[in-house]
This record gives sequence, structure tokens and C-alpha cells, in this order.
Amino acid sequence: MSVKSIITKIPTIQKEFNIFTSYIKNPPDATVENTQSSIKVGAIKDNIATKDFPTTCASDILKNYSSPFDSTVVSLLKKSGALIIGKTNLDEFGMGSLGLHTTFGPTKNPLNKDWCVGGSSSGSAAAVASGIADFSLGTDTGGSVRLPAAYSAIYGFKPSYGRISRWGVVAFAQSLDTVGIFANNIDTVSKIFHIIDQHDPRDPTSLSIDLRKSLIDQNKKNEERSKPKIGIPKEFVQSELAPEIKESFMTYIQTLLTKDYEIYPISLPSIKDSLSVYYTLAPAEAASNLSRYDGIRYGKGNSTTPDIVNANFYNESRSNFGQEVKNRIILGNYNLCSDGYRNNFIKAQQLRVQIINQFDKIFRFKNVLTKNEPEHDIDIILCPTNLNPPPPINYMVQTPKSNPLQEYMNDIFTIPMSLAGLPAISVPFSKGKPYGVQISTQYGNDEALMKFVKETV
Ligand code: GLN
Repeated sequence: MSVKSIITKIPTIQKEFNIFTSYIKNPPDATVENTQSSIKVGAIKDNIATKDFPTTCASDILKNYSSPFDSTVVSLLKKSGALIIGKTNLDEFGMGSLGLHTTFGPTKNPLNKDWCVGGSSSGSAAAVASGIADFSLGTDTGGSVRLPAAYSAIYGFKPSYGRISRWGVVAFAQSLDTVGIFANNIDTVSKIFHIIDQHDPRDPTSLSIDLRKSLIDQNKKNEERSKPKIGIPKEFVQSELAPEIKESFMTYIQTLLTKDYEIYPISLPSIKDSLSVYYTLAPAEAASNLSRYDGIRYGKGNSTTPDIVNANFYNESRSNFGQEVKNRIILGNYNLCSDGYRNNFIKAQQLRVQIINQFDKIFRFKNVLTKNEPEHDIDIILCPTNLNPPPPINYMVQTPKSNPLQEYMNDIFTIPMSLAGLPAISVPFSKGKPYGVQISTQYGNDEALMKFVKETV
């Protein structure tokens, strides 16, 4: 399909699936002509800054915000010849797992319009699944690329933390936030990864050039073993797993066995604490990050004659946050207050270190960041991406949310890798079915991970 015909098709696709928060209308002819790279068309999650489109984070508080600059990832993509066709819908500020907490209304799943497409990178997943984009960027803090990829039967890759610049990516929980890639095949994922996998001095958490060099050596050592050793954590074998997902996962394991891969049961006891650790740390970081939306620095006030002297001004402006974001701010600030800090926040940080240490013991290679000594020699970890198929949009919108924990449970398989900063990819093993296999490996072994996917899926 030519770029011009893609752009002509966007309004129809938008009506059908509600993918975009804004999109390209009339590209200058020169742009179309210059878009000659093999990967032409991409869509960008609307919490990643772009100067050609507004950056709203799907929040009322940023509804009219436009960034004066492009984020590093967007600059790199443009330089490589990609055309950005629009910004995509999301759960407000990346908080959610179903694509429902957004001021633009839910994105529909291209596999079945009645289903949630998953979140928080809902529009980015749907852009690729609907065929309107060759690739898209999302952000993954606890699973927001991998879960919607599984729900819409495409590839969703969260690289190692620090490999992709976060400069210009609106912070949700900065110790976890990672830019991720959606595509319909692993070759496109890997092409986009190589374009944006660069050290960036403007991002203080960007992986240093020296450590990047040591990763090249490590990736070379991967070549020495013709077949990676695979581990399946027994803690991930959940009785709540939907039968069809279990069956698909078992079929994948069977194909690996027939290809002579060695598969071992492994144990990572601390990952059972992952959800509680994540939902203590991520809201605390979010509460701190979101304090900049005060109607003065960022965010809008409601009144034309603002009452700056009294607290009303601040209250008015902050009332523009959606309910889920408000919940996180309250929870986060509670865990940063004196008792909550000692009893919960510090404890959660300690448990996070334990989770990282346990992953490090399992893998063959040393983690270049922690330098922990390995005790086993596993290369690849496997588990499902999602516990259940995507829920129906109507049911989720109409049922009163008595228990937000139910939505939080969707991230049970993805959060452990986020806490440890590991690369992880959701792969659609059962073609066209809304579930994925999640494949992960030691920190920094992103190339080996993609190679394994190419060889086995
Ligand atoms: N669903 C998780 C949350 O709401 C993860 C979100 C994400 O990865 N951005 O926090």
C-alpha cells in the first residue's frame, strides 16, 4: 500500500477502532516521496513527545499541550526515513491495562471490536493489528506493550531498561518506564530496535557506551551455544490460567522439545511479591512525577480569573485528572508519607532487589549492572503473557469498579521482568488468537532474545 493511500484510509480506520488521538491529514508531497525506507509508516503512543502532533497522554489536563521538541526516539525514526502518521490512544499517563481509562474513549480490538485491545498502549497495538501502521511505539512500565500485543495477536517487545532513550517520554514511573515496539513480525521489531537502540546523554538512565560494548561481547558468547537452555518458572504455572492459553503455551513447549531444546523447571520464589512491589513503587514514583501538572508549569486551570493565592487554583487544575490517575496519586503519596514510607516503600525496594538477585542466579550470564554471580546456566525464560483472553469493552465499562485489583491482576506475568529491567517480548504463537507467549532473557541480551524468536516461532 502506498503512503498516500494509507493516509487516505486513516479516517475510516479511526472511526472503526478509535486508534488515534491525532493523525496526519495532508502530508506534504515531499514527505511522501522521501519516505523510501523499507519501514515506512509508524504510529507513536501519545505520551511520547512530538512537535508535529499534540502530546496529551490521553488526559484532560494536557488536552491542549503541544511539545516544542521531538523525543529522541521520534527524531531517530524520522532521521531513518520513517513517516509518523499519528499519535495513539492510551490509558491516561500509561496507567491501566485495558485501554479504558482515556479521555478519548476506548480503543477497539481489531481482532474483535467488542473486546478490549489491552493497555496502556492500546492505540499503538491497534494501529499495527489493524494494518494501518508497519510498526508503532508504546511504553511499557509493567506490561503495557506486552499485554496489548498478546490481546491483539501481534509482537510486542520491551527492551532492556536503559537501552532506549526516555528523553521526551512523559514519566509515569521512571525506574520502570521503557519504550517498546509493536510490529506484525520479528524482523520489523528488530529493525526498529536497531534504529532507536542508542546511548542518549540527555537521558540520565540511558545505558552507558562502555556497558553497551560489554554487551556486544556477551551477545557474541551467546553464539557459542547452538541451542539456548530454557527455563520455565514454576511460580508462573497458575491454576487461574485460561484453558485455551494453557493449551497454546503447551503446544509451543512441544514444538521446542521436538526441535531438541532443553527445557528445565526453575524457581524464582520472590516473583510472587511482584504485583505488590510494583503497585507500591510505581504509584509512588507517579505521584511525584505528576506533581508538575499544577496548572502553572504544566496542565490547565479551569478558570479565567485564577485564584492563585488560595489553594483553589491548584485543586481546580488537578481535578482534570481521571479517576484512575487520582487513585494512583493518593496511593503513591500515602506510601511516601512517614509510616507508609517505612512500612511499605522501603520494604518494596528491598523486595525488588531480591527479585533482581533471583533472576540473576538463574541466568548463564552475569548481569552487567548488578555483577551478581550466576548459579545456573539458563538462557531463556518462558511463560504466557496473559492470564485470560481480553474482556469485552461493554462489560468492563458498565460494571461498577468495585475492585481495581482485578485489572491490576492482568499484569501478573509481565511485571516481574519490568521490576528486574529485563528484555521481554510477547509473541503471538497461536495465529490470530488473543494470547501470547512471553519470552525473556538476562539484562542486555536483547539481540539473543530476538534471534531465539526468529528460530522458534
Ligand atoms: N497496567 C500497569 C499499570 O497500570 C502497567 C502500565 C504500563 O506498563 N504503563 O500500572
